[in-house]
Amino acid sequence: MPSALQYLERFSEDEACLEHLFAARFGDKAACPKCGRRANWYRIKGVRSYRSSCCLHSLSPMANTLFHNSKIPLKYWFYAIYHFSTCSSGIGGRFLSRHLGISESAAWRVGNQIRRHMTAIDQERTFGDPACSKAVYMNETLLRGIRTTNVPGKGRIRLLGIADRDAAASVPWNYARRAGTITKLISRIQHGSLVYVQDAKLEELLANHKLSRIRNLKIEQILFATRADPLASYWLALKRTIRRNHLHINRKYIQIYLGEFEFRYNRRGYPDKILSDLLSIFPQIT
Ligand SMILES: [Zn+2]
Repeated sequence: MPSALQYLERFSEDEACLEHLFAARFGDKAACPKCGRRANWYRIKGVRSYRSSCCLHSLSPMANTLFHNSKIPLKYWFYAIYHFSTCSSGIGGRFLSRHLGISESAAWRVGNQIRRHMTAIDQERTFGDPACSKAVYMNETLLRGIRTTNVPGKGRIRLLGIADRDAAASVPWNYARRAGTITKLISRIQHGSLVYVQDAKLEELLANHKLSRIRNLKIEQILFATRADPLASYWLALKRTIRRNHLHINRKYIQIYLGEFEFRYNRRGYPDKILSDLLSIFPQIT
């Protein structure tokens, strides 16, 4: 893990950031999308893109990533990413606005894009295994004390989560619209996995779900208290973080805050991976 000074020195110019981004996304001698040959790539002056030596095809490293269409200098983004990686409770818009000298709304957008980036990186993570040696636990919980900005007086959010011994994930959960949200979680469970649920209603819902039948999930209802339930520690850590930071979350953005939390939680034993993953994996952000 580089020190703050080493990091900021390395990414103190936009050019260095762009070069890093190009190498991380396309590699050293990226194949030209037009002719398919491995090409040499040259910077196009004045725009943040590269051009291939063979067909003069242009490639923008920022396209479809968290930086897509951003007018803010890349070095500002890299500065923000560093602070996100070192501060376990996340960074607020006001902090970024002060440090970067940009408006609060621009800083707020930078923060939200970094949270989306974290969420997208961990979306690829799957749970359980076909050999059933890694059981998946599924359960719901109620988050209290969330100050919501758009629904006065309603500071509670119900969540549905899954966890195995390595990782956890959760989504906002509403019985009335259950099909959509539960599908998001089932789609991340590996074919043939063993899934433990505590609640009979949830077991029925899961057993009758089309995707869990297609995936051939083995569903068992058990009392979580009798086992070391990996979801319990996830819920505890999530609630502690929200309470400690007095998070002011808009319901509309709860999913990306959960995504940020999940990203950090799933690297809890490997803190250096937070920064290295943020700088080496650039999934498409929609
Ligand atoms: Zn070419």
